[in-house]
Amino acid sequence: MSENAKIDYTTFEATVERSRKLDEDLVKNPDKYRVLTGDRPTGRLHIGHLFGSIQNRVRLQRLGVETFIVIADYQVLTDRDSFDSISDNVIQLAIDYMAAGIAPDNGKTFIFPHSHVPELNQLVLPFLTLVTNAELDRNPTVKEEILASGQKKINAGMYIYPVHQAADILFCKGNVVPVGKDQLPHLELTRVIARRFNDRFAARKPVFPEPQPLLSQSPLIMGLDGSQKMSKSRNNAIMLSATEDETANLIKKAKTDADRLIEYDLQKRPEIANLLLIASLCLGRAPEEIAREIGNGGAGALKKMLTESINEYLRPMRKKRLELESNMDYIRQLIKNGVQKARQIGSETLEEVREVMNMKI
Ligand code: ATP
Ligand code: MG
Repeated sequence: MSENAKIDYTTFEATVERSRKLDEDLVKNPDKYRVLTGDRPTGRLHIGHLFGSIQNRVRLQRLGVETFIVIADYQVLTDRDSFDSISDNVIQLAIDYMAAGIAPDNGKTFIFPHSHVPELNQLVLPFLTLVTNAELDRNPTVKEEILASGQKKINAGMYIYPVHQAADILFCKGNVVPVGKDQLPHLELTRVIARRFNDRFAARKPVFPEPQPLLSQSPLIMGLDGSQKMSKSRNNAIMLSATEDETANLIKKAKTDADRLIEYDLQKRPEIANLLLIASLCLGRAPEEIAREIGNGGAGALKKMLTESINEYLRPMRKKRLELESNMDYIRQLIKNGVQKARQIGSETLEEVREVMNMKI
């Protein structure tokens, strides 16, 4: 592989600009696009997911873009000992999506766990031959996740999961991927895999698109501990499904600082800035304005306002969630429909892939 084919893991600003242009085109030409995005069934969704990715998914869906949501259940095995809750988490994720506005009953949106789509998984093998060990080793998000998981022994699945993710995206030729900032290195790898596959096997007629990331206005919500991204696995998240009291208690314990004057200063006061950002996303107001309003009220006043704004913002979703929970059979059926559609598209792609790799019999 040549030097200029190197994977670029470092271009956040350029990506933000590209994402903005992509957004403009999506509004004008929704039919040109297919969204593929997803989550691991390691727990329920939190507000980082909501503001980082789900809201964009709902917006695109409403523009009429066909949307595939993969629940990456195999990926749970990369850093978890326990697999007891996977199937329950799959259903709960689907409920979270639907409570947030994802509509797998609209004929254009499909939710499926990737373990049920063998055609998708089969792409992982040829894709693995298109990247080097050194490239997988350099992925900054994988490094961070290994560190955060505290595992002593790292299984090979952890290093190759971004390649698996390339299969998740490319099996259906997804060309837009609404993601948070942590996913950008993986998406860059997917683009490289698509390019190398096309160059090597399908130079005349490319098989795969090079999918583009779509970032939200808030591509990174920090956790309530203030030191790392909000994550299902790091005990620092507010779940969409939490009760109002649970939400209040979590926010009470959020890390802040001793300065009474509340200001929006990302560099000097990141914990306060993150709480202000979350409040601003719920209220649809600028964080600086909220800070000015609280003034010398201190962290206590900020937490009170944040608790109220989150609980109010999530109230309709939480209500819808409860309704959906009483209809599990319906949710299961929608997931089965999603699997069926994914398998149909996956087998078409696999046929094409076999053809260009000269593996037809
Ligand atoms: P886990 O701890 O199990 O890895 P997670 O909370 O990191 O869970 P994922 O399922 O890995 O969630 O991520 C799903 C999607 O949500 C990705 O697009 C990711 O970028 C986005 N996302 C996750 N956490 C955040 C966050 N704190 N801020 C913005 N986007 C986020
Ligand atoms: Mg994650």
